[in-house]
Amino acid sequence: MSIVNKAARLKDQMETVCKQSQREMQDITLVAVTKTVDIPRTKEVIQAGIIHLGENRPEPFLEKVKALEGEKIYWHYIGSLQTRKVKAVISHIDYLHSLDRISLAKEIEKRAEKPVKCFVQVKTSPEESKHGLMPEETLAFIKALEEYKKINVIGLMTMAPYTADKKSVRSCFQKLKKLQEEIQSHCFQHATCTELSMGMSNDFDVAIEEGATFIRIGSSLVGE
Ligand SMILES: *Cc1c(COP(=O)(O)O)cnc(C)c1O
Repeated sequence: MSIVNKAARLKDQMETVCKQSQREMQDITLVAVTKTVDIPRTKEVIQAGIIHLGENRPEPFLEKVKALEGEKIYWHYIGSLQTRKVKAVISHIDYLHSLDRISLAKEIEKRAEKPVKCFVQVKTSPEESKHGLMPEETLAFIKALEEYKKINVIGLMTMAPYTADKKSVRSCFQKLKKLQEEIQSHCFQHATCTELSMGMSNDFDVAIEEGATFIRIGSSLVGE
């Protein structure tokens, strides 16, 4: 199936879930995760009308930025970002989905020319070897980000465990939503936290039902 057809299929599925859960399509941004595909295939994604792209390794990311210069693209960095790589990549990142430590915020503060839209990554499933803050330490972390003027906390991000058990997946997304409400109740100027980045190929339907505003789709869109 071509990427154009896969994109159409995905949008149909998103529309169905939106209808069933009283959500609006326009409130959900589809990020195509192109981390596993080459530049020609990434171009196909853009030709299919998707302008939000997600990458997770600095070198291929920078290669794509260069090759696709002039295209209207919003770049999402979705992987754990090493502090020493910040300098090279930060000016090309429109959304960082993996802010998970103060040392990273510090480096961004030093290297970025303008504020960066960031998601704080939260570990909502303890059994997983995923990155991110524990839910109970997230509020204090976000408070501590206030002094970093280049960090604009637009939301929270999480990854659910890869399992067919929809209940445990749903519980991760619900945890993130609850945490968002708690943070929003503080009305932080530097952390409006209006967005939720959650949901991948196998669980975006549950994520939309639970309030996702950004979904990150790789394999079902660009996979073979
Ligand atoms: C790879 C990746 C995705 C996309 O996963 P698929 O299952 O291929 O849709 C989403 N988010 C993050 C953080 C990823 O690393």
